[in-house]
Amino acid sequence: MSGAAVRITGDPEVCTGAGQCVLTDPAMFAQDDRGVVELRTHRAEGARVPRAREAVFLCPSGALSIVED
Ligand code: SF4
Repeated sequence: MSGAAVRITGDPEVCTGAGQCVLTDPAMFAQDDRGVVELRTHRAEGARVPRAREAVFLCPSGALSIVED
């Protein structure tokens, strides 16, 4: 279900700093000074869910994932 709330996880050990997640939604994702992903939130709901899924899809390293609660 695209409208249900989901949990977002990001693995800094896997992240290669490509920045696609930040470009997809800077309200959910940020990068630290090494370029490694930082989650601004661990949950997405409503209109943010499709963007969270898009970020997971676009991430080239597989560092992001979505957990359906
Ligand atoms: S898109 Fe993936 S590899 Fe790039 S900064 Fe985000 S989590 Fe890291």
